[in-house]
Amino acid sequence: MGKPFQLKIFEKFLKEKGIAYKVDEPLAKHTTIRIGGPASFMVFPKKEDELLEIVKNATELDIPWYVVGGGSNLLCADEGYSGVVINLRNMKGIAERSFAPDATLFLEALSGTMVGEVISFARKKGYSGLEFLAGVPATVGGAVRMNAGAYGRSFSMLVRRVKLLKDGKIEDYEPKDSDWTYRSFSKEGIVVSATLELVKSNPEEIERKLKEIYFKRKASQPLAEKTFGSAFKNPPCCYAGKLIEDCGLKGFRVGGAKVSEKHANFIVNLGSATAKDVLALLREVQKRVWERFSIMLEPEVKFLGCSM
Ligand SMILES: Cc1cc2nc3c(=O)[nH]c(=O)nc-3n(C[C@H](O)[C@H](O)[C@H](O)COP(=O)(O)OP(=O)(O)OC[C@H]3O[C@@H](n4cnc5c(N)ncnc54)[C@H](O)[C@@H]3O)c2cc1C
Repeated sequence: MGKPFQLKIFEKFLKEKGIAYKVDEPLAKHTTIRIGGPASFMVFPKKEDELLEIVKNATELDIPWYVVGGGSNLLCADEGYSGVVINLRNMKGIAERSFAPDATLFLEALSGTMVGEVISFARKKGYSGLEFLAGVPATVGGAVRMNAGAYGRSFSMLVRRVKLLKDGKIEDYEPKDSDWTYRSFSKEGIVVSATLELVKSNPEEIERKLKEIYFKRKASQPLAEKTFGSAFKNPPCCYAGKLIEDCGLKGFRVGGAKVSEKHANFIVNLGSATAKDVLALLREVQKRVWERFSIMLEPEVKFLGCSM
């Protein structure tokens, strides 16, 4: 990009509209693995119309843009990103859309709402369904885009409608089964909100499920470390973590990046890891698994400004 004139016009627009933004904002501050150089601009829309205008302006000015939620499945380049990173964390809120008191509750959550907040909201009302994602630092938008899942359940099972921003318009879309695959929602656009269907349950049962999931996660994943969740998708045959572990790679290091000893499909930033370290580690893991099992692991993590 590097077009100072366009960037100046873009900044003028942000100022005029009173949209919050930062210049040369370190992406490391906005990803759970705490890696990534500066984004030329990071903008923080709070409402749909701000988001629409940001995308419209950046597109017209030919400035590249990228959407970030919780940054919990993202590796950003050490060089950063020459463009506009649209951080949706301030676009949050939950509204009850309709419900049949004895059976279901429909909640519409804006994309930047943390999944954990939706779980708490539903729990207080006595509705269940999202417990499988307890402890996952995802936003609703990121969980839709990635079709986040665990323990045999996935976001797709709960999502009834998605508001999507595409081509300058917001569409209220009813997802089809074919839109969802393992760790992906294929319909293009920025997820503005999602309406989830939750089922009535008793509070003790919800509490029990939440505790069970939390302790299961804590026992098997390095939750207190800097990671981006699963590095690779599970291939059809088996778990990626098991394949990596069977190659003897737990604890394997490149620079400041290490394969977690707790869960081999998690890469840990020991404190000083660079994106280059992580990429070299991912490539080596992929190579060793291929050599031993003839299985090519596919990254689950998304890349911004870098690639494997
Ligand atoms: C400790 C830990 C545990 C985890 N456990 C799980 C797990 O059990 N199951 C699981 O599936 N994942 C897990 N993850 C990974 C991650 O939390 C999920 O992939 C999550 O859905 C990503 O959401 P996010 O908001 O952080 O998205 P980000 O990481 O910010 O973005 C991920 C991708 O989604 C896109 N995106 C984000 N928001 C939007 C939007 N509003 N519209 C369109 N595109 C968007 C981004 O451009 C990017 O391509 C874990 C991560 C961590 C750190």
